[in-house]
Amino acid sequence: MALASVIGQETATTALRTFIARDAVPQSLLFVGSEGVGKTTTAVEFAKALVCKSRTTTGDACDVCANCRRIDTGEHPDVKRIAPDGEFTRMYQLWSRTGHAPGILESLPYAPVAAPKRVIIFERAETFNDESANSLLKALEEPPPYVNFVLCAPAPSAVLPTILSRCQMIRFRQASTDAITKGLVELKNIPAEEARVLAAYSEGAPGKAFRLADAPEIRTQREALLDVAYRIAQCPPIGSFRLAEDFRNAAKPGKPKKGDAEEDGGDKTARGDLGRALEVLCAWYADLLAVVLRGADAPLIHADRRSAVLDAVKRHTHPEQVAENLQTLFTFRRHLARNANAQLATEVLMAKLVPRS
Ligand SMILES: [Zn+2]
Repeated sequence: MALASVIGQETATTALRTFIARDAVPQSLLFVGSEGVGKTTTAVEFAKALVCKSRTTTGDACDVCANCRRIDTGEHPDVKRIAPDGEFTRMYQLWSRTGHAPGILESLPYAPVAAPKRVIIFERAETFNDESANSLLKALEEPPPYVNFVLCAPAPSAVLPTILSRCQMIRFRQASTDAITKGLVELKNIPAEEARVLAAYSEGAPGKAFRLADAPEIRTQREALLDVAYRIAQCPPIGSFRLAEDFRNAAKPGKPKKGDAEEDGGDKTARGDLGRALEVLCAWYADLLAVVLRGADAPLIHADRRSAVLDAVKRHTHPEQVAENLQTLFTFRRHLARNANAQLATEVLMAKLVPRS
């Protein structure tokens, strides 16, 4: 891989390659963008481009020299990635503390050993606590000339203003569905139709799409949830309790066990599962609405289920019901976040979603 092939981040990667090609790389960079959008991937490719032994004229890494390969395997002595320990990036990760390996900032006075630069990547700069943030601040103020920092964070407001002011910010955007689909087909060898579904669910975050691709059980679960979704439009009002139970069971990760739904009907884990399952229902109704608005050939998230989508639309007496159902799902999502009883809430939800005559 190289900077130029990071999915859907052409603006950010072009800026970085231009810095390198002009030999004008800011020593402290802050990569800002939502989770899974490609910040850490880009940071690693940027580090490769900085220390590559035979860099291209466009400021990208060769991908084959010793430095590139050692970074790819995470074994380069001068390129370090620091992820939080639990909730926080802690002092001992920066400065040596008894009982821990030497802190990363401890090495700053020493020149790099195998590359022209030392690159330090903080994967989650929003997790610095006050103590570690203040400590990093001193390093950011006057880094040695051979040190480059890359901090990654979800938003500028997630890091202390004092850190923000010492870094050059690079913004990462949501990647397009087309770009993510292409990436999944080329790098994960997934059929185009399925790749497009995963891309649609990833909300512009290639990292999320790749995680979905690596988790076949999530794909199986989504199929089960879509089966329930399809049954909604065929269900008489009296069958909505059963649908609610099937939905809760399909929402659980792994194989549902008998009686599970009622036992953990209101707990936090079940709500998290329901929240993810709700995404599938929303995507289903988005497809129904697409057909209502744009006709039978509308572009769909679940293109492989087009005949089921068309059938479900026909079973709604009024097309407006489809839009109302999407609204109902959004209301349900808010209630769920406010600790509503999951069992009761899903029963009310299904009663509202089944078509009225
Ligand atoms: Zn190289």
